[in-house]
Amino acid sequence: MDLNTIETVIRPEARSDLPPWQDGDACLAGGTWLFSEPQPGTCRLVDLTALGWTPHAITARGVTLAATCTIAQLDRLELPPDWIAAPLVGQCCRALLGSFKIWNVATVGGNLCMALPAGPMIALATALEGTCTIWAPDGSERHLPVTDFVLGPQQTALRPGEILRGLILPAAALTRRTAFRRISLSPNGRSGALLIGMRDPSGGFALTVTASIRRPLRLAFTDLPDRDALARALSQAIPDDLYYDDVHGRPDWRRHMTRHLAEEIRDALADEASV
Ligand SMILES: Cc1cc2nc3c(=O)[nH]c(=O)nc-3n(C[C@H](O)[C@H](O)[C@H](O)COP(=O)(O)OP(=O)(O)OC[C@H]3O[C@@H](n4cnc5c(N)ncnc54)[C@H](O)[C@@H]3O)c2cc1C
Repeated sequence: MDLNTIETVIRPEARSDLPPWQDGDACLAGGTWLFSEPQPGTCRLVDLTALGWTPHAITARGVTLAATCTIAQLDRLELPPDWIAAPLVGQCCRALLGSFKIWNVATVGGNLCMALPAGPMIALATALEGTCTIWAPDGSERHLPVTDFVLGPQQTALRPGEILRGLILPAAALTRRTAFRRISLSPNGRSGALLIGMRDPSGGFALTVTASIRRPLRLAFTDLPDRDALARALSQAIPDDLYYDDVHGRPDWRRHMTRHLAEEIRDALADEASV
Protein backbone atom coordinates (compact mmCIF):
# COMPACT_ATOMS: atom_id res chain seq x y z
CA MET A 1 0.00 0.00 0.00
CA ASP A 2 1.05 3.61 -0.42
CA LEU A 3 2.39 5.08 2.80
CA ASN A 4 1.04 8.60 2.63
CA THR A 5 2.90 9.83 5.71
CA ILE A 6 6.34 9.33 4.12
CA GLU A 7 8.07 12.59 3.20
CA THR A 8 11.61 11.33 2.57
CA VAL A 9 13.32 8.12 1.50
CA ILE A 10 17.06 7.97 2.09
CA ARG A 11 19.24 5.43 0.27
CA PRO A 12 22.61 5.38 2.07
CA GLU A 13 25.39 3.56 0.21
CA ALA A 14 27.79 3.42 3.18
CA ARG A 15 27.56 3.51 6.95
CA SER A 16 28.90 7.06 6.92
CA ASP A 17 25.86 8.11 4.81
CA LEU A 18 23.40 7.01 7.52
CA PRO A 19 21.58 10.11 8.76
CA PRO A 20 21.32 10.99 12.46
CA TRP A 21 18.28 9.13 13.75
CA GLN A 22 15.14 11.13 14.38
CA ASP A 23 11.60 10.43 15.55
CA GLY A 24 9.50 9.11 12.67
CA ASP A 25 12.39 7.19 11.05
CA ALA A 26 12.08 3.53 10.07
CA CYS A 27 14.51 1.17 8.40
CA LEU A 28 13.25 -0.25 5.14
CA ALA A 29 14.43 -3.75 4.20
CA GLY A 30 12.15 -5.85 1.94
CA GLY A 31 9.14 -3.74 2.89
CA THR A 32 6.82 -6.77 2.98
CA TRP A 33 5.48 -5.80 6.38
CA LEU A 34 6.24 -2.08 6.26
CA PHE A 35 4.08 -1.59 3.17
CA SER A 36 1.38 -4.00 4.35
CA GLU A 37 -0.32 -1.63 6.78
CA PRO A 38 -0.51 2.12 7.52
CA GLN A 39 2.52 3.50 9.36
CA PRO A 40 1.09 6.73 10.78
CA GLY A 41 4.12 7.40 12.99
CA THR A 42 6.67 7.07 10.19
CA CYS A 43 7.70 9.96 7.94
CA ARG A 44 11.19 8.96 6.76
CA LEU A 45 12.47 5.63 5.44
CA VAL A 46 16.11 4.58 5.49
CA ASP A 47 16.48 2.00 2.73
CA LEU A 48 19.04 -0.54 3.93
CA THR A 49 19.18 -2.41 0.65
CA ALA A 50 21.22 0.44 -0.89
CA LEU A 51 24.10 -0.39 1.48
CA GLY A 52 24.94 -3.31 -0.80
CA TRP A 53 25.82 -5.82 1.92
CA THR A 54 27.03 -9.22 0.71
CA PRO A 55 24.06 -11.49 1.50
CA HIS A 56 26.02 -14.39 2.97
CA ALA A 57 29.52 -15.66 3.57
CA ILE A 58 30.68 -19.13 4.58
CA THR A 59 33.88 -19.57 6.57
CA ALA A 60 35.28 -22.33 8.78
CA ARG A 61 33.65 -20.49 11.73
CA GLY A 62 30.15 -20.64 10.30
CA VAL A 63 27.77 -18.63 8.15
CA THR A 64 27.42 -14.88 8.27
CA LEU A 65 24.12 -13.54 6.95
CA ALA A 66 23.57 -9.89 6.18
CA ALA A 67 20.33 -8.54 7.60
CA THR A 68 19.36 -7.76 3.99
CA CYS A 69 19.84 -11.37 2.80
CA THR A 70 16.48 -12.35 1.33
CA ILE A 71 14.63 -15.55 2.17
CA ALA A 72 15.12 -16.64 -1.47
CA GLN A 73 18.89 -16.02 -1.32
CA LEU A 74 19.15 -17.95 1.94
CA ASP A 75 17.14 -20.85 0.54
CA ARG A 76 19.54 -21.11 -2.43
CA LEU A 77 22.63 -21.13 -0.20
CA GLU A 78 24.69 -24.33 -0.50
CA LEU A 79 26.36 -25.33 2.75
CA PRO A 80 29.35 -27.71 3.18
CA PRO A 81 28.24 -31.37 3.18
CA ASP A 82 29.46 -32.01 6.73
CA TRP A 83 27.09 -29.33 8.05
CA ILE A 84 24.31 -31.86 8.44
CA ALA A 85 21.95 -29.30 9.99
CA ALA A 86 21.70 -27.68 6.52
CA PRO A 87 18.15 -28.95 5.76
CA LEU A 88 16.90 -26.72 8.57
CA VAL A 89 17.63 -23.69 6.42
CA GLY A 90 15.18 -24.70 3.70
CA GLN A 91 12.64 -25.95 6.22
CA CYS A 92 12.63 -22.58 7.98
CA CYS A 93 12.53 -20.62 4.71
CA ARG A 94 9.48 -22.64 3.66
CA ALA A 95 7.80 -21.89 6.98
CA LEU A 96 7.35 -18.34 5.68
CA LEU A 97 4.40 -19.03 3.42
CA GLY A 98 4.55 -16.08 1.08
CA SER A 99 4.43 -15.91 -2.71
CA PHE A 100 7.67 -15.83 -4.74
CA LYS A 101 7.34 -12.03 -4.67
CA ILE A 102 7.50 -12.04 -0.87
CA TRP A 103 10.31 -14.61 -0.80
CA ASN A 104 12.42 -12.51 -3.16
CA VAL A 105 12.29 -9.34 -1.09
CA ALA A 106 11.56 -10.32 2.54
CA THR A 107 14.81 -10.32 4.46
CA VAL A 108 16.31 -12.34 7.28
CA GLY A 109 16.88 -9.14 9.26
CA GLY A 110 13.36 -7.86 8.64
CA ASN A 111 12.02 -11.14 9.96
CA LEU A 112 14.10 -10.89 13.14
CA CYS A 113 13.25 -7.22 13.66
CA MET A 114 9.52 -7.88 13.21
CA ALA A 115 9.87 -10.29 16.15
CA LEU A 116 6.62 -12.06 15.32
CA PRO A 117 6.24 -15.33 17.26
CA ALA A 118 5.93 -17.12 13.89
CA GLY A 119 9.15 -15.62 12.52
CA PRO A 120 10.89 -18.62 10.95
CA MET A 121 14.25 -16.87 10.77
CA ILE A 122 13.99 -16.41 14.53
CA ALA A 123 13.43 -20.16 14.88
CA LEU A 124 16.41 -20.96 12.63
CA ALA A 125 18.71 -18.52 14.39
CA THR A 126 17.65 -19.69 17.86
CA ALA A 127 18.18 -23.36 17.06
CA LEU A 128 21.59 -22.64 15.53
CA GLU A 129 22.62 -20.41 18.45
CA GLY A 130 22.88 -17.35 16.23
CA THR A 131 24.35 -14.05 17.33
CA CYS A 132 23.05 -10.72 16.07
CA THR A 133 25.42 -7.95 15.04
CA ILE A 134 23.94 -4.54 15.79
CA TRP A 135 25.14 -1.17 14.53
CA ALA A 136 24.69 1.66 17.02
CA PRO A 137 24.21 5.28 15.89
CA ASP A 138 27.52 6.33 17.51
CA GLY A 139 29.43 4.08 15.09
CA SER A 140 30.00 1.23 17.55
CA GLU A 141 28.81 -2.34 17.20
CA ARG A 142 27.35 -4.77 19.71
CA HIS A 143 26.46 -8.45 19.64
CA LEU A 144 23.49 -10.25 21.18
CA PRO A 145 22.31 -13.87 21.13
CA VAL A 146 19.07 -14.10 19.16
CA THR A 147 17.22 -15.15 22.33
CA ASP A 148 18.20 -11.80 23.88
CA PHE A 149 17.39 -9.88 20.70
CA VAL A 150 13.77 -11.01 20.30
CA LEU A 151 11.95 -10.02 23.48
CA GLY A 152 8.28 -10.51 22.60
CA PRO A 153 5.75 -9.96 19.81
CA GLN A 154 7.06 -6.99 17.76
CA GLN A 155 9.52 -6.17 20.52
CA THR A 156 13.29 -6.39 20.13
CA ALA A 157 16.34 -5.23 22.04
CA LEU A 158 17.10 -2.62 19.35
CA ARG A 159 17.50 0.87 20.79
CA PRO A 160 16.46 3.98 18.86
CA GLY A 161 18.66 4.38 15.81
CA GLU A 162 20.20 0.92 16.03
CA ILE A 163 20.29 -1.24 12.93
CA LEU A 164 20.54 -5.00 12.74
CA ARG A 165 23.61 -5.54 10.53
CA GLY A 166 23.53 -9.31 10.39
CA LEU A 167 23.57 -12.70 11.99
CA ILE A 168 26.35 -15.21 12.65
CA LEU A 169 25.49 -18.92 12.76
CA PRO A 170 28.37 -20.92 14.26
CA ALA A 171 29.74 -23.94 12.40
CA ALA A 172 29.55 -26.14 15.52
CA ALA A 173 25.76 -25.83 15.59
CA LEU A 174 25.54 -26.66 11.91
CA THR A 175 27.18 -30.06 12.46
CA ARG A 176 24.39 -31.33 14.74
CA ARG A 177 21.57 -33.72 13.87
CA THR A 178 18.22 -31.99 13.69
CA ALA A 179 14.49 -32.62 13.73
CA PHE A 180 11.96 -30.01 12.60
CA ARG A 181 8.24 -29.95 13.39
CA ARG A 182 5.72 -27.27 12.49
CA ILE A 183 1.96 -27.01 12.60
CA SER A 184 -0.59 -24.42 11.58
CA LEU A 185 -4.37 -24.28 11.79
CA SER A 186 -4.74 -24.47 7.99
CA PRO A 187 -2.48 -25.98 5.31
CA ASN A 188 -1.16 -22.57 4.21
CA GLY A 189 -1.55 -20.87 7.57
CA ARG A 190 1.03 -19.09 9.66
CA SER A 191 2.93 -21.31 12.11
CA GLY A 192 1.05 -22.02 15.34
CA ALA A 193 4.00 -23.95 16.75
CA LEU A 194 7.46 -24.44 15.24
CA LEU A 195 9.92 -26.58 17.16
CA ILE A 196 13.45 -27.68 16.31
CA GLY A 197 15.50 -30.33 18.08
CA MET A 198 19.26 -30.71 17.88
CA ARG A 199 21.51 -33.51 19.07
CA ASP A 200 25.24 -33.00 19.26
CA PRO A 201 27.81 -35.77 18.82
CA SER A 202 28.38 -36.05 22.59
CA GLY A 203 24.67 -36.80 23.14
CA GLY A 204 23.55 -33.35 24.25
CA PHE A 205 20.03 -32.35 23.21
CA ALA A 206 18.51 -28.91 22.68
CA LEU A 207 14.92 -28.01 21.94
CA THR A 208 13.94 -24.70 20.36
CA VAL A 209 10.33 -23.62 20.82
CA THR A 210 8.89 -20.81 18.69
CA ALA A 211 5.58 -19.64 17.21
CA SER A 212 3.51 -21.12 20.03
CA ILE A 213 5.07 -18.79 22.58
CA ARG A 214 5.61 -15.04 22.75
CA ARG A 215 9.39 -15.16 22.44
CA PRO A 216 11.85 -17.84 21.33
CA LEU A 217 13.12 -20.33 23.85
CA ARG A 218 15.99 -22.81 23.67
CA LEU A 219 16.12 -25.57 26.28
CA ALA A 220 19.46 -27.39 26.56
CA PHE A 221 20.02 -30.82 28.16
CA THR A 222 23.30 -32.66 28.68
CA ASP A 223 21.63 -35.94 27.64
CA LEU A 224 18.42 -36.85 25.90
CA PRO A 225 15.69 -36.39 28.54
CA ASP A 226 13.04 -39.07 28.92
CA ARG A 227 9.47 -38.06 28.07
CA ASP A 228 8.58 -37.11 31.65
CA ALA A 229 11.71 -35.02 32.13
CA LEU A 230 11.04 -33.24 28.84
CA ALA A 231 7.43 -32.50 29.83
CA ARG A 232 8.59 -31.20 33.21
CA ALA A 233 11.22 -28.97 31.61
CA LEU A 234 8.64 -27.51 29.21
CA SER A 235 6.17 -26.84 32.05
CA GLN A 236 8.85 -25.12 34.11
CA ALA A 237 10.20 -23.02 31.24
CA ILE A 238 6.85 -22.02 29.72
CA PRO A 239 4.27 -20.60 32.11
CA ASP A 240 0.74 -20.54 30.67
CA ASP A 241 0.84 -16.82 29.99
CA LEU A 242 3.86 -17.25 27.70
CA TYR A 243 1.72 -19.15 25.18
CA TYR A 244 0.68 -16.82 22.37
CA ASP A 245 -2.93 -15.98 21.59
CA ASP A 246 -3.95 -14.70 18.16
CA VAL A 247 -5.98 -15.76 15.12
CA HIS A 248 -3.35 -18.38 14.28
CA GLY A 249 -4.06 -20.43 17.41
CA ARG A 250 -5.43 -20.43 20.93
CA PRO A 251 -2.99 -20.80 23.82
CA ASP A 252 -4.38 -24.17 24.98
CA TRP A 253 -3.99 -25.63 21.46
CA ARG A 254 -0.50 -24.18 21.17
CA ARG A 255 0.47 -25.67 24.55
CA HIS A 256 -0.85 -29.09 23.55
CA MET A 257 0.94 -29.00 20.17
CA THR A 258 4.18 -27.79 21.74
CA ARG A 259 4.25 -30.77 24.09
CA HIS A 260 3.25 -33.19 21.34
CA LEU A 261 5.81 -31.92 18.82
CA ALA A 262 8.52 -31.83 21.49
CA GLU A 263 7.89 -35.52 22.19
CA GLU A 264 8.01 -36.34 18.49
CA ILE A 265 11.33 -34.52 18.17
CA ARG A 266 12.72 -36.27 21.24
CA ASP A 267 11.75 -39.66 19.82
CA ALA A 268 13.16 -38.84 16.39
CA LEU A 269 16.52 -37.83 17.82
CA ALA A 270 16.64 -40.79 20.22
CA ASP A 271 17.21 -42.96 17.17
CA GLU A 272 20.88 -42.70 16.21
CA ALA A 273 20.08 -43.07 12.51
CA SER A 274 17.60 -40.21 12.27
CA VAL A 275 18.55 -36.81 10.85
C1 LIG B 1 2.00 -13.23 2.64
C2 LIG B 1 2.86 -12.90 3.83
C3 LIG B 1 3.21 -13.93 4.70
C4 LIG B 1 3.99 -13.66 5.82
N1 LIG B 1 4.30 -14.68 6.64
C5 LIG B 1 5.05 -14.44 7.73
C6 LIG B 1 5.39 -15.50 8.62
O1 LIG B 1 4.99 -16.65 8.44
N2 LIG B 1 6.16 -15.21 9.69
C7 LIG B 1 6.62 -13.95 9.91
O2 LIG B 1 7.36 -13.72 10.88
N3 LIG B 1 6.32 -12.93 9.09
C8 LIG B 1 5.54 -13.13 8.02
N4 LIG B 1 5.22 -12.09 7.20
C9 LIG B 1 5.64 -10.72 7.61
C10 LIG B 1 6.94 -10.23 6.90
O3 LIG B 1 6.80 -10.37 5.52
C11 LIG B 1 8.20 -11.00 7.32
O4 LIG B 1 8.37 -10.94 8.72
C12 LIG B 1 9.46 -10.49 6.61
O5 LIG B 1 10.55 -11.36 6.87
C13 LIG B 1 9.81 -9.07 7.00
O6 LIG B 1 11.00 -8.74 6.31
P1 LIG B 1 11.13 -7.44 5.40
O7 LIG B 1 12.53 -7.44 4.91
O8 LIG B 1 10.08 -7.36 4.36
O9 LIG B 1 10.91 -6.32 6.51
P2 LIG B 1 10.31 -4.84 6.38
O10 LIG B 1 8.86 -4.89 6.10
O11 LIG B 1 11.17 -4.01 5.47
O12 LIG B 1 10.59 -4.35 7.88
C14 LIG B 1 9.94 -4.96 8.97
C15 LIG B 1 10.28 -4.18 10.26
O13 LIG B 1 11.63 -4.41 10.63
C16 LIG B 1 12.38 -3.19 10.63
N5 LIG B 1 13.68 -3.56 10.06
C17 LIG B 1 13.87 -4.31 8.94
N6 LIG B 1 15.18 -4.57 8.78
C18 LIG B 1 15.81 -3.96 9.81
C19 LIG B 1 17.18 -3.90 10.21
N7 LIG B 1 18.16 -4.54 9.51
N8 LIG B 1 17.52 -3.20 11.31
C20 LIG B 1 16.53 -2.56 12.05
N9 LIG B 1 15.21 -2.62 11.73
C21 LIG B 1 14.87 -3.31 10.62
C22 LIG B 1 11.57 -2.22 9.79
O14 LIG B 1 11.79 -0.88 10.15
C23 LIG B 1 10.15 -2.67 10.12
O15 LIG B 1 9.75 -2.15 11.36
C24 LIG B 1 4.44 -12.34 6.07
C25 LIG B 1 4.09 -11.31 5.18
C26 LIG B 1 3.31 -11.58 4.08
C27 LIG B 1 2.94 -10.45 3.17
